[in-house]
Amino acid sequence: MKRFASILAAVALILISHIAFGQRPNVYILATGGTIAGTGASSTGTAYSAGQVAIQTLIDAVPQIQEIAQVRGEQVVNIGSQDMSDEVWLRLAERINELVQDPDIDGIVVTHGTDTMEETALFLDLTVNTPKPIVLTGAMRPSTALSADGPLNLFNAVVVAASPYSRDRGVLVAMNAQVHAASQVVKMHTTSVESFVSPNTGPAGTILNGNVTYYSAQARTPLHFDITGLQTLPKVGIIYSHAGISSDIATAMLSSGYQGIIHAGVGNGNIHKNIFPVLKKARAQGILVVRSSRVPTGPTTLENEVDDEAYQFVASQWLNPQKSRVLLMLALTRTHDWQQIQEYFNSISQYTPAGK
Ligand code: ASP
Repeated sequence: MKRFASILAAVALILISHIAFGQRPNVYILATGGTIAGTGASSTGTAYSAGQVAIQTLIDAVPQIQEIAQVRGEQVVNIGSQDMSDEVWLRLAERINELVQDPDIDGIVVTHGTDTMEETALFLDLTVNTPKPIVLTGAMRPSTALSADGPLNLFNAVVVAASPYSRDRGVLVAMNAQVHAASQVVKMHTTSVESFVSPNTGPAGTILNGNVTYYSAQARTPLHFDITGLQTLPKVGIIYSHAGISSDIATAMLSSGYQGIIHAGVGNGNIHKNIFPVLKKARAQGILVVRSSRVPTGPTTLENEVDDEAYQFVASQWLNPQKSRVLLMLALTRTHDWQQIQEYFNSISQYTPAGK
């Protein structure tokens, strides 16, 4: 109740100050590259290079955003997000944690490639501690394409970041006129502009005519990891299961410095008989094992067909393999206790609307 009252007071204060003084909110853009900053030789083909255009050019291409907010920005990196790294994640999170301390900044937009956007969104959700809106956006078509989607996505992301109704919702993704929670959103189509969905819950809201509307209340995740001063993250890899899988690749991971393995299993996180002994050996070596699933929707539940307690495996609940990797890396900066790590996976799943 107290928390609700203080959120209401903060929203009222922001609204009153903006109405009374005619101020537009201040939105800061951090650019990291991706197709939104991409260029191609043809406006109708699919061939292009990501991460070519600098931040000011992106802002200048959408003068309408200046009606919504006072916008400035800086370039963090200019890469295709297939090249995203722990180092860039740590740098980005540190910079955002710095920027949100500035009382003159009301919200932040991160422009990003779409390939790993869902991973970066979750990483920031777990490492940036602020009620201020942090919104990721990008584009499925390069800036030189006919009907490029980047300009409207950037406009909409600024709308979301500038809105007091976006406060205290954790990190959001604004793509194709929809808003998604970091824990839920996935890239579901390789080429369509309608690529980003929250398959278990549906989107958190929609953006229309320069306004964002949320469908329901949504709290920030209770989990927060302090990454101050960290230069590297624990090494965690993913094994993708399939019919007839052999143990070679998984076995190689046991002697390659991995502290954690995510098993992208079949069905409800099931494990092939060839892989089971390798994962047992991993646990005996102190490597954390998380069972997730290659199935795109639904949870990987504890103690279903696998006796997790007996093997000391962690079930990923509602997180897909790539997001499980993000949480496990951060968890391992704090503990190697599998039961504690299971608690992290349970609690991130409970705060989401689909949590059980
Ligand atoms: N490969 C690009 C990237 O993730 C794709 C995109 O942005 O849509 O940077």
